[in-house]
Amino acid sequence: MGLKLFNTLSRSIQDFAPLTPPKVGMYCCGPTVYDFAHIGNWRTFVFADLVRRYLEFKNFQVTHVMNITDIEDKIIKRVRETKTTLPEFTGKFESAFFEDLKTLNCLSPHQTPRATEHIPEIISLIEKLIARGIAYKAADGSVYFSIEKYRGFGCNYGQLLKLNFNEMRAGERVKSDEYAKESVADFALWKSRVPDDADIFWPSPFGEGRPGWHIECSAMSMKILEASFDIHLGGEDLIFPHHEDEIAQSEGATGKPFVKYWLHGAHLLVEGKKMSKSLGNYFTLRDLMAKGLSGREVRYLLITAHYRETFNFTLEGLAGAKTALARIDECVGKLSEIADRTNAAPNSKILEQFSAALDDDLNISAAWGEIFKWVTETNKRIAENSLQAADAAASLAAWHMIDSVLGVGTKNDIEIPADITALAEDRIAAKKSKDFKRSDAIRDELKAKGWVIEDSPKGYKLKKL
Ligand SMILES: [Zn+2]
Repeated sequence: MGLKLFNTLSRSIQDFAPLTPPKVGMYCCGPTVYDFAHIGNWRTFVFADLVRRYLEFKNFQVTHVMNITDIEDKIIKRVRETKTTLPEFTGKFESAFFEDLKTLNCLSPHQTPRATEHIPEIISLIEKLIARGIAYKAADGSVYFSIEKYRGFGCNYGQLLKLNFNEMRAGERVKSDEYAKESVADFALWKSRVPDDADIFWPSPFGEGRPGWHIECSAMSMKILEASFDIHLGGEDLIFPHHEDEIAQSEGATGKPFVKYWLHGAHLLVEGKKMSKSLGNYFTLRDLMAKGLSGREVRYLLITAHYRETFNFTLEGLAGAKTALARIDECVGKLSEIADRTNAAPNSKILEQFSAALDDDLNISAAWGEIFKWVTETNKRIAENSLQAADAAASLAAWHMIDSVLGVGTKNDIEIPADITALAEDRIAAKKSKDFKRSDAIRDELKAKGWVIEDSPKGYKLKKL
């Protein structure tokens, strides 16, 4: 069975057929680097990582692009408040973002373009829109996208969702510097410099200023991928206006269809409520790490629910994640012991079940269902002593392929720090010389450092507590 995905553009599940297979161009709206990303943001980035990993599992050659929004109203405000410079301020949060991405075992996107490094591309895209009569410079010096002119060309504004043009954006706050727009629905492509911007501005043919947020994504995605590419991802909160505006700008400039498949991840609630700092249920990844959780547990939890379902993130759920992962670790650990370095081709049954589930619009809940069924059956066979080394090796090989998509790893994958290995070796030496007092002391010291040591006829094994 081939992969099917829900496309927001058609509001239906479609067969996935990339424009030039086996290549797949995939763009995911990245972070605005003015703060640490919160767990709701991470749901989207882990979802994008899962899509990429699964496409690679299916032998597609993916180019995964994720932008860094390093120029934006909130950023300018914070730079002013913290009396720092733009690169210093955004650099700090950008590095933190990439560290967190690693903590959650997300593969690094192939390209992570920064908006501030694509000002010429942004300017030339705006120039194209002006030349086609779709964008105009207003009295305030800013350049706006005219939705009326765009529609006048027979283009559809409202591809991702049905819009009521009379009420459109009426509820949005109109800034004083945006009164110059011809229509309230128009959005800024280039924002002219205002005193609060201080030294954060770029020269352009339209005057000094900075790009709007939407145009950044159009310019960078089309530069790195093509004018038309396969997949654009993001959280559902970005459907309107951000993604709709990306389509309008891109198709308005090129006259070509922008993106074939739009995928949107649903919201995340924390303890049943919308996350907010005032409710005390607002968590960054770092907040969760400080509570003693691991990136692996958080990642697992974030990929337990279908991406189009609202997900309720709870601390109780995280406890469940620990138990679930421990079940997998135990099973995989036993399989490794039985396989004892035997090599075998992956067990195709579990792989087929796993892949059939994910082919169905990335039905991850069904995939986990198959995995835990497989764990139960495997444990049963191990208990009955009916699993041969070759069977165990085949199961293990299948698990490694499955985990290349899930990215939760096994506890044994955890790198053991050199000082811990040295202590374990000292303990073996102490045991050999029958210094049991010392070997017990080392065991306690390891425990205090968060490691348990298990002896077996083949040597010892270190496990993280
Ligand atoms: Zn974007």
